[in-house]
Amino acid sequence: MLSYQHAYHAGNFADVQKHLTLYTIVNHLLRKESSITYIDTHAGRGLYPLATKETQRLKEYREGIWPLWQSRHQLANPLLNEWLNILEGAQPEIAELSHYPGSPWWLSQQLRQQDLLKLFELHPGEHEHLNVQVLPKQAQRIYGDGLASLRKLLPVATPRLCMLIDPSYERKTEYQEVVEAVVYTMEKARHAVVMVWYPLLPAGHHHTLLAGLKESGIAKIWRSELQLYQQSEQTHGMYGSGMLVINPPWGLGEHLTAAMAEITPLLGATSRYHMDWLVGE
Ligand code: SAM
Repeated sequence: MLSYQHAYHAGNFADVQKHLTLYTIVNHLLRKESSITYIDTHAGRGLYPLATKETQRLKEYREGIWPLWQSRHQLANPLLNEWLNILEGAQPEIAELSHYPGSPWWLSQQLRQQDLLKLFELHPGEHEHLNVQVLPKQAQRIYGDGLASLRKLLPVATPRLCMLIDPSYERKTEYQEVVEAVVYTMEKARHAVVMVWYPLLPAGHHHTLLAGLKESGIAKIWRSELQLYQQSEQTHGMYGSGMLVINPPWGLGEHLTAAMAEITPLLGATSRYHMDWLVGE
């Protein structure tokens, strides 16, 4: 039984890191004409009105997208400005931040005629929300298990594949399931660009994911971690969030470092961003 609902966390610092990374990667991929299949294995609702009682309960966006939005006219980084301009497009009133879009929306913004988008969501209520979003016709919404479905989907028919794996990690076994899904994907689509999001929690379960991928033999695994708090300060809840990118586009790290250098001070005095290669070439 799934209980996680992303509406409680929409627009938090992890979403900022995740969606800015996603946007930057897709921008790089669009430099070539050849078609791309995007797979979002854990899609969520697609769009989150911030005024709902779920989002208002924790108001996590206040420590995420909110300070960025407030400073948007003073930011110098071109990537960040471009990303925030696109976010403005999700708002019914341009000057007011009332909605935060999820990964299906960010992926849909950059979808071309020749591309396909497959959005998996396993929670019936979340899938229903996703179903009423206005998305381009190449976006297919599937009520199903995004990881298990890879067995039927891969290899894809398009020359290129880009995947986001963004589980809620409600079950500890999901860390290992993600490793298996990535290994399978890389066997079937060696050049796929695969993004994996993970939480930094005091229990340190993400080490299962990192160790599993390190031992898998997969090369070119880039890692970035955004820490909002010192690990020692936080006894429960997320102190940070991580993104892995397998086969990252050339220059990704450079672009994100520059953008994150402007973002981190806005997220708080202890916030910091770090990137490295979990596994090199
Ligand atoms: N990717 C979304 C975004 O960036 O806006 C957020 C996704 S949220 C962290 C995780 C979602 O995955 C939840 O909506 C949950 O119901 C769904 N989910 C959990 N297990 C799943 C599975 N095996 N297949 C597909 N969806 C799943």
